[in-house]
Amino acid sequence: MNTLHHIVIVGGGAGGLGLATQLGHKLGKRKQAKITLVDAHLTHIWKPLLHEVAAGTLNSFEDELNYFAHSVKHHFDFQLGRMTAINREQKRIMLAPLLDDMGQEVAPARHITYDTLVIAIGSTANDFGTTGARDNCMFLDSRAQADRFQQQFLNMYLQAHALPANTSLPPELNVAIIGAGATGVELAAELHHASHEFARYGLDDIQPQHVKITLIEAADRVLPVLPEAVSAAAESQLKRKGIHVLTRTKVQAIHAHHIECADGTRIPADLKVWSAGIKAPDFLQGIAGLETNRINQLVVTKTLQTTRDSHIFAFGDCASCTLANMERPVPPRAQTAHQQANYLVKALTAHIQGKALPDYQYNDFGSLISLSEGSSVGNLVGNIHVKGRIARLMYVMLYRMHQYALHGLFRTLLLWGKDQLSKNASPTLKLH
Ligand SMILES: Cc1cc2nc3c(=O)[nH]c(=O)nc-3n(C[C@H](O)[C@H](O)[C@H](O)COP(=O)(O)OP(=O)(O)OC[C@H]3O[C@@H](n4cnc5c(N)ncnc54)[C@H](O)[C@@H]3O)c2cc1C
Repeated sequence: MNTLHHIVIVGGGAGGLGLATQLGHKLGKRKQAKITLVDAHLTHIWKPLLHEVAAGTLNSFEDELNYFAHSVKHHFDFQLGRMTAINREQKRIMLAPLLDDMGQEVAPARHITYDTLVIAIGSTANDFGTTGARDNCMFLDSRAQADRFQQQFLNMYLQAHALPANTSLPPELNVAIIGAGATGVELAAELHHASHEFARYGLDDIQPQHVKITLIEAADRVLPVLPEAVSAAAESQLKRKGIHVLTRTKVQAIHAHHIECADGTRIPADLKVWSAGIKAPDFLQGIAGLETNRINQLVVTKTLQTTRDSHIFAFGDCASCTLANMERPVPPRAQTAHQQANYLVKALTAHIQGKALPDYQYNDFGSLISLSEGSSVGNLVGNIHVKGRIARLMYVMLYRMHQYALHGLFRTLLLWGKDQLSKNASPTLKLH
């Protein structure tokens, strides 16, 4: 009896989950291949939403997708586990033991064998070894980190609420965000919005004008990788909200209560978030003799196969792919991960049939940045700039398109309807 070709996808994020879902329907359902998705968590939340989770304007428990339930509907297997190593000779990946919250072992270390391996484990923030960053900053790499930030942000308000009524100075909250890329800009705008929402729900001891948000960027403008007109539009909207934008400012060290800049400036900060730069997870560096770059990304060819092993593919933030017509690798964005997942559905089908693989092509459809409160800025194909409510609608559509890729039209409409209903039925801010 012929055993089915086994495709193992590690990482069920913006790219990996869409790929597993589509391959499940195309190959798994027809018994043309066995598809297994491995993820370190039980549930998926779309990473570009994490700044909203951190600000409390999105409840991560309401927007998560359970991998087991999803896999059954979409004809693939799900394995919970964190990949730690690859054995290319034996074509197997190693998973760390599963531990519960108390550190007790739920399942021992184990391995999964593959015929074709696809790695899509995303990226983490890159603090470039900045003194004090690991110990004093929060990061927004995972839902757990975003939830932790939300709790600390809320705690600041609870603390102020418990102060005696005759306190002489009004309580202040200083937030510093290091890195004004998409994550930093979106987080700054969302926290500003949340500061007004707290007041609406009676937690008005820290008045919105006493929440001082500072966005620090080493480059000469915010959103340095986007066109200048988009940066200018974003910066002017941030400033209009009262957000303090510092460009050309290099952070030297992070301390418990302040940020130290290279020019000697000290910026007071109760909450500090690092959002400057990304790297692939450290354990990928040189893994199983595969080629990696200085930020740990697996180097892949124009077919998204790793340069030293054609049975191992990598895509999304953890891969570096430079195409012939491009000076730089394709950018680490949700858009890239989605496009690459769509490409891999065709490429992996050809691969298991022993056919030649088509070449991957990247299409830049532009970028949209959320500035909260119904506004966004961005650029579209042909360098058309958009802002305001139209840009916001397009931004919202990006997430709905992700849901559409996972659930199809009917369920996406149901989820959209549910979100609209719960917007009216529940507080607009998570207060617990
Ligand atoms: C706050 C924020 C806002 C953003 N906004 C935008 C935006 O507006 N537009 C845009 O295009 N991009 C945005 N991005 C970037 C975008 O989220 C990423 O480019 C995209 O998620 C990358 O997709 P991916 O599939 O490569 O990785 P991810 O979506 O990060 O998924 C990686 C998956 O791998 C799993 N995993 C990790 N390590 C292991 C392991 N060892 N074993 C098993 N599983 C593992 C994780 O649990 C996760 O499910 C934003 C990012 C952040 C943090």
